[in-house]
Amino acid sequence: MTRYQIAYKEPKKILTPASGFLYGYTHSLNPYTGCLFGCSYCYVRQSPVGLFRGEEWGEWVDIKKGIHEKYILEMSNLRKRGKEVTIFMASATDPYQSVEYKEKITRALLEAMVKMPPDFLFVQTRSPLVTRDIDLFLKLKDRLRISVTVETDLDEVRKSFSPQAPPIQARLKAIGELQKNSLPVQAAVAPVLPFSKEFPETLAGLVNRIVIDDFYTGDGSNGKRTERLKIKELFTEDELDKWYGKHVHQYAYENMKRAFSSEQILISKQGFMPY
Ligand code: SF4
Repeated sequence: MTRYQIAYKEPKKILTPASGFLYGYTHSLNPYTGCLFGCSYCYVRQSPVGLFRGEEWGEWVDIKKGIHEKYILEMSNLRKRGKEVTIFMASATDPYQSVEYKEKITRALLEAMVKMPPDFLFVQTRSPLVTRDIDLFLKLKDRLRISVTVETDLDEVRKSFSPQAPPIQARLKAIGELQKNSLPVQAAVAPVLPFSKEFPETLAGLVNRIVIDDFYTGDGSNGKRTERLKIKELFTEDELDKWYGKHVHQYAYENMKRAFSSEQILISKQGFMPY
């Protein structure tokens, strides 16, 4: 059984000026460093934090203690200077990974945000734990988007590509619950993995906005970053080769069009922008 390395850290700053694919935002906010979901296709694997730590990505996490207080301090300073603040949470970790059940770092941050709201908050996760914080999301709902990843509806496929991530059924249930509470939620089919014929209708029964992204459109390097992660091998091992390539994006779009209008389907970056 894998032993996870869990450490406590006190970072000096928590609101990071946004850059790269987050160009639409002023800041990113990562409640943790590292991610115990350890998805095979995670691009953070190739960033300095993933490469030079000396431990396998997915087997360690640093818990950032006390960051809700830092949030208030940093926000006060930004507001004093009249700055707009739009936050993407999180770009290099999952804010609702398993340690969040006990640590409640993300929850404390949201409580701080209710006291001092950003202009916009984007919450990206693949964990059903996100529903625990519906009470706080309701207080932020006019400046919020919650995005829950469901790359496929086939849990066997999920197990091949991200065995440590939460089961698909639990994520679908979470999406339905967020939508039932009239929260601004989307399903992120990103990256597209092999899915069943019924997937579009399943999603349409739960949510009215989806975003599609794949290994070519979404990796910022026309598929090269994904090639370095050797993701193609996973498709080959499972005889799923036809699901890997530039055509997959269009194929997913055509299928989703059966159940969603074109306005309800966002493509790649479009689905992750603020407002
Ligand atoms: S949940 Fe997100 S940050 Fe965590 S390993 Fe998967 S892709 Fe990377």
